[in-house]
Formats: sequence, C-alpha cells, structure tokens
Amino acid sequence: MNKHEVAHILDEIGTLLSLKGENPFKIRAYQNAARAVENLSEDLQVVVDEERLEEIPGIGKKIALKITALVNTGKLPYFEKLKKSIPPGLLDLLNVPGLGGKKIKALYQKLRIKTKKDLIEACKKGRIARLKGFGQKTQDNILSNIAKIETYGKRVYWWDAEKNAQSILEEIASHKDVSEAEIAGSFRRNLETVGDLDILVSSSHPEKVMEWFVKRPWVEKVLAKGPTKSSVLLKTGLQVDLRVIPKKQFAAALIYFTGSKEHNIRIRTKANILGVTLSEYGLEPLTGARLKKAAQRLTPKVLSTEEAIYKFLGMKFIPPELREDMGEVEAALKKKIPELVEYKDIKGAFHCHTTDSDGHNTLQEMVEAAQKLKWQYIGISDHSKSSFQANGMDEKRLFDQTKRIKKLNGSKKFSTYVFAGLECDILLNGKLDFPDRVLKELDFVIVSVHRSFNLDEKTMTARIIKAIENPYTTMLGHLTGRLLLKRDAYAVNIPKVIDACIANKVIIELNASPMRLDMDWRFWHKASDKGLKCSINPDAHSVAELEYVRAGVNVARKGWLEKKDIFNTLTLAKVLAYLKKR
Ligand SMILES: [Zn+2]
Ligand SMILES: [Zn+2]
Repeated sequence: MNKHEVAHILDEIGTLLSLKGENPFKIRAYQNAARAVENLSEDLQVVVDEERLEEIPGIGKKIALKITALVNTGKLPYFEKLKKSIPPGLLDLLNVPGLGGKKIKALYQKLRIKTKKDLIEACKKGRIARLKGFGQKTQDNILSNIAKIETYGKRVYWWDAEKNAQSILEEIASHKDVSEAEIAGSFRRNLETVGDLDILVSSSHPEKVMEWFVKRPWVEKVLAKGPTKSSVLLKTGLQVDLRVIPKKQFAAALIYFTGSKEHNIRIRTKANILGVTLSEYGLEPLTGARLKKAAQRLTPKVLSTEEAIYKFLGMKFIPPELREDMGEVEAALKKKIPELVEYKDIKGAFHCHTTDSDGHNTLQEMVEAAQKLKWQYIGISDHSKSSFQANGMDEKRLFDQTKRIKKLNGSKKFSTYVFAGLECDILLNGKLDFPDRVLKELDFVIVSVHRSFNLDEKTMTARIIKAIENPYTTMLGHLTGRLLLKRDAYAVNIPKVIDACIANKVIIELNASPMRLDMDWRFWHKASDKGLKCSINPDAHSVAELEYVRAGVNVARKGWLEKKDIFNTLTLAKVLAYLKKR
C-alpha cells in the first residue's frame, strides 16, 4: 500500500471513530497521523522497513503498528471491524459537506436517521431545525449541500486522481501483452476534476490483460468485466475503466476517448468534408466517396499516431488539454497552436504561507524546500490581521517577519531569494487591511477576499476593483473564492475585473491549489491576448504544497498560456527589476 492509500485509511478511521462518539484526542491522533503520512517526503516502505515511523512527529506507537500492517499486508483487521460496526448509510452521510461524525451520531441517536433519504425527509419536515445544536440555518445548508453533491456527482480533484494514475499506468504498460497504454478522457485533458480514469491499451490478447487487470491488489471492487472493457473501483473510491483496443485502431481510439464531445464533432465534420469518417475505429472512406482524393490517401501509416491523423485532416497536432472546441481547431488549421508553458519554465513562486499565520512550516523550512526545488526565489505572503481565523498578522508581526526575511537574504544561507509580501484582506468596502505606509515596505502585495462572500455581483465587482486600484497591489488572489466540488464562486464580473487588472498593471494569480485552480482556465486565453499577466501561485500552507505549482501549470496549459504569459517564469533579476519599478 502506498502512502496515499494509508493516509486515506487513517483518515477514515478518524471519521469512523467520530461516528462512534470516541474521544476527540483519539480522533485527532488519526487525522494528524494521516497528514503526517501524506506529507512524508521519503518512501513510506523504507521508513517502515527501518522501523522509523515513531520518529515522525504525529505518529505514536499504536498507530505506527497499524501503518506497518497496512504497508506490509495491505490489510488492517481493526479497520474492517470498525467499518462493520457502523450502519453503511451513515458512512454515506459523511459525503454531505458540513456533516461531521459528531453531528451524524446525534442525528442517528435522536432522530434514527440512517440514510440520506431519511435525512432529506427529516429536513423537509423541519425536524432538524428543531433539534438542539442544529437550527434552521443548518437544516437549510444540509438540503442545499445534498443538492450540490447530486450535481457534482462523484467527481474527484484531478490532483487526487493523479496520485493513482501514473503508477497504475506504468504497471499496466509493463504487462507483457500490452504494447501501448495511455490515459484518455478528462484526466488527459487536465480538467480540474475528473469523474473516472479512462485507460486505453492495445494488445492482441485482450482476455489475458483483463483477467490480470481485475486481480490487481489495488482493486477494491470489480464493477464490470468484459472481454474488451472492464471497470473497477480503487480503494480511494476512484473508478478506473480499462479498454483493450486492436493495435491499428489505437491512435483513433485515443483521439476519440480524449477529446470533449464538442471537439470530436468538429474534427469528425472536417473528416467528412475530406470524404472520410473518423470514429473510435479509425478513418474509413465515406460510402460513395471512394473517388475522393483524400480517401485514396488512407494508408495504415495515416492511422499510426495521433499526429498523423490530425495531419491527414490538415491540422497541426492539438495538445490533449486544448481539445475542448474553444478555438483550437481553427488554430490547428492555421498551424498556430501555442507553445504551452511547461513546469521546467517555472523559476520560483509567490503566495506561500508560514507558521507566522496559518502555514504548517516555518519560514526557514519553506525556503529550504524552495531551494530543493531549485527555485531562484520564493514569495512569502502570510495573512493580514482581519483574517483572524487564519492567525492573520498585525503590523508588528508583519514587520518582524519582514525583518527576518531581510536577515535571511543577507545571510546567504540559501541560494533561493525570499520576497517579503503579504496576502492582504480586501475589506468589505474595498479598502485593504493595512494603510499604504505599511504596504509600501513590502516587496509585493497579494489582495484577496476572505469573507463577506454574499454580496451582489455589482457590489462585489466594485469592491475587488477598488482593491486592484490600490497602488501597492501587485497581484489579485483567488479571484472567485471557489472551492472545487465544495463551494461555488461568489458573484463577480470576471471580464470587468480582468480589464481593471490590465489597466492597473496588476497580475492575476492562477491559484494552483488543486481545490481552487482560480481564475478558471476558460478565461485565460482571451485575457492573456489582451495583455494580462498570470502568476502560478501554490498558496502553499506547507512544504509539500509547493508541489501544487504543477497542478497550476497543467491548468495554465489548458488556458492556452505560454511561458511569456507567466510572471514566475521570469528570472530573479527580472522579477527584482519588475517589483522595484512598481
Ligand atoms: Zn487566501
Ligand atoms: Zn493564501
């Protein structure tokens, strides 16, 4: 079992214990252990083999034994027993945002609520509102949250799917009867959330591959097994579909199962004009069109790769993440596909938190981690005083941090340069949380909305634009406040905000937290054409979260962004010059 699976189970144990009404310290211990395992920078198996688990802060003796069992055997009888002791419907209730173990236990004990259906009924009858510790507001929230899960379905963050995807793909690709293997679908298109993983392989022995696939140790449940298509559920709840395809159809199938419906319609139409049909089975001459020139050019070579198929259609290769029918077909016909930004272009990152506000690692630890990533610079921006829930800093603490950053830069202890900044709250009236005389001491200022989300669009837009107009604002943080799969964006006129940023030379961040990915990729192409600059910011609250920049790069690519559009692809010297000029 890998560290993600172990962390997932530890977390689930914590939840199950809370359903049983266990003591909060015990519950917290499992949650902390889950986080410690997830953030582990070395190989979990090695730590287990060398019996060093207990040296990790947050992991005690008892939990260490359980982790060891999970890593070595993939099983934990304690967990199985715990699961069986709880009505299955109650576990399902945990998927309702806002309902934790404690609340679910109360609902079960006081109202005998065992399933989602029971819960909806009780809400409709007003019984939850009357329950002590709940109230009308909670009842309304429960109903709207249930509606939300129904619309979002069982989607997961791209980032979470990715944790399983690469290792599964590698394992499948290494099977001796598999000649090609690739993940298709929304995962390959770098969509921010994915419903499942679609894996395509080519093989001349489909039955053998299927037989082997459904017996992999990471398979929790086989949903369907057929000669050429099977579906399984992983332990983390993610569904994986495997399709086995004859070798000569592989490239066409890959195009078919990767593109969005709209993209596929566009390229099929283009094929028809040329006198051929394009489907998951390949390119074939249209009936009655045998004499058309293009149909005569149909040779096996034309079908051998995706590039060759696009070329046959008169197009440049379209990178998978662009296949959404948002201008890419026209661009490919004109041979004007952008040179998308890559992770290796990134030179550093802004928007990182430390223990000075709500981060988990100290300033030193964050800089050290940035140095390990070979970043030339890191921008520290902890919360400002109005974000008291996030331990926001007052003026004194801010200046103390700035002083420590200067000292650190002066000491030359790290090759990574540190920019002293702030994630400054945008107050209700659009003013910033600190006066200009404080802001002007900083290298950069990110302005963000952290409260009062329920304004009408006009008021919210004016509020944000006022903050953008502050002369000390460098960047706008998480533009819409959305939390993917959890909280919708607040009402704001995005095109107006984009225009205000361009006019005031303010950068908009692409918040790279996999739960945010905000501003949405759908806006970037047009905005960057108009001159908007993007900064891919991890919003890291720990050393491990600096990795989020990768998720940001994926989505920036989806938004057509090139190296030149991204602020943090600039070298340290250029960033220094830019910030000084501002
Ligand atoms: Zn924030
Ligand atoms: Zn932040």
